[in-house]
Amino acid sequence: MNKNSKIDILGVKIDNIDMNEAVKNAETFMNEGGFHCIFTPNSEIVMSAYKNDRFKEIINSADMLTPDGIGLVYAAKILKNPLKERVAGFDLVMKLFENISKSGKRVYFFGSAPGVADEAKKKLEEKFEGINICGTANGYFDEKREKEIIEEINFLKPDLLLVCLGSPKQESWITEHRSELDCRLAIGVGGTLDVISGKAKRAPDIFIKLGLEWFYRLLKQPARIGRMMALPKFLFTVIGKRMKGDNKNA
Ligand code: UDP
Repeated sequence: MNKNSKIDILGVKIDNIDMNEAVKNAETFMNEGGFHCIFTPNSEIVMSAYKNDRFKEIINSADMLTPDGIGLVYAAKILKNPLKERVAGFDLVMKLFENISKSGKRVYFFGSAPGVADEAKKKLEEKFEGINICGTANGYFDEKREKEIIEEINFLKPDLLLVCLGSPKQESWITEHRSELDCRLAIGVGGTLDVISGKAKRAPDIFIKLGLEWFYRLLKQPARIGRMMALPKFLFTVIGKRMKGDNKNA
């Protein structure tokens, strides 16, 4: 992968890339030997990393960090080092599926409630002819089941492993098991399988284009108000650090 420039947001080193570069890098990871991982932090995840040094280390250990969330785009502007664009994990994996369906690469889905990954597999097989989703496992497991899942992944050797356990579980899980996993690229992408399966809905394009996906989610799930407050808190923290001059950009 080319050395991307990174933007330091509260200690998290986000890659300043656009969608095409993110897709290219992900494909390079799948074609190279060894294990790689991509995390897709939003402002909530960056805020958690800011408050927890161990989690910050985990996040920064990824081979690529895509800016998933309009909050990061605003933060980078505040830091006078703008990001090229928002690169949502969901959009990134949909682009990868499109290319993968032509290349014969193998995909494994790990995470979400029982039945969701299988439903997502069905939906994608209808959408992308030739896609090879070689296995699925739900994200509710005990130690014994976890061992079986890792064994199955290693038997199937997928090129791409989606880990959808929510944050911080998925990033911690990937980091803890990266030396045991026989796959090329793991991506932590939260509720992506819920959206693909139809269990959850993404905001209409107009909301996404206007940077108002968070507002749409709030309208649909008013109970998320607590989580939503993380966005203004995050931006105030970035402004505060900027004013103190102790958030230097890489
Ligand atoms: N999840 C899981 N195992 C767990 C906890 C959560 O598989 O132990 C799944 C959950 O079913 C959902 C996803 O992780 O599909 C997290 O979704 P959420 O919308 O919270 O993700 P985010 O907002 O972090 O993208």
